[in-house]
Amino acid sequence: MHIVITGANRGIGRSLADHYRARGHDVTGTARDGSSDLALDVTDPAQHRTVASLLEDRPIDLLICNAGVYLDKGHDIDGYPAEMWAQSFAANVTGVFLTVQALLPNLQASKGKIAIMSSQMASHTRAPGGSYIYRASKAAALNLGRNLATDLRADGIAVGIYHPGWVQTDMGGPAAEITTDQAVEGLTDRFEALSLDSSGCFETWDGRAHAY
Ligand code: NDP
Repeated sequence: MHIVITGANRGIGRSLADHYRARGHDVTGTARDGSSDLALDVTDPAQHRTVASLLEDRPIDLLICNAGVYLDKGHDIDGYPAEMWAQSFAANVTGVFLTVQALLPNLQASKGKIAIMSSQMASHTRAPGGSYIYRASKAAALNLGRNLATDLRADGIAVGIYHPGWVQTDMGGPAAEITTDQAVEGLTDRFEALSLDSSGCFETWDGRAHAY
């Protein structure tokens, strides 16, 4: 398989890339600091165009929209500047859309799959308060994925939206519940199982359907 992963330089994205490479798959990792195969800041349309032109017409079997930020972690209610909303949505929502849009011909060529890394914090049924920006942006990414699933069905492209678990990364912190290896073990099973029958699903890393 040819697998493209955004934010592949650290955290879950890096571990997903390592996992697939170790199993002989062809991985194109992207990173905004240029430390993976291709340089890509997912908020930048010009860089998306460059990535698409470098990949030419090479089919993509699995696109993992993993890059994301959690800028408002631990903020008080008076600590949510408008610029933080803009930056977060640019990465977590617009960034996902621009990635799919730029690589759509490559996905169409192989009837590939799209995996969007959302979060349990996207769910409307789970509202403990706080982290307004992150929650809203991940809810938007979930909504985007659900609607892409509808529109891309005719192309044979399945779209899944995932909660990767609370994972020990820079974002998740050292107290998180699972390691990146555990998250990747579960997520890769989910991606393999994703089909047009399950397109639009919102699932946890360990295979449970998540409430929207
Ligand atoms: P990390 O903070 O460890 O890594 C985030 C990755 O996203 C980095 O590679 C980072 O690149 C990249 N990134 C951020 N902004 C951009 C951008 N504008 N353009 C390109 N790359 C960017 O996070 P995790 O690995 O923990 O998280 C991966 C995904 O999983 C995220 O979408 C996150 O929201 C989601 N998630 C994580 C959970 C957890 O517990 N860890 C729980 C639920 C969801 P750089 O090094 O340049 O900053």
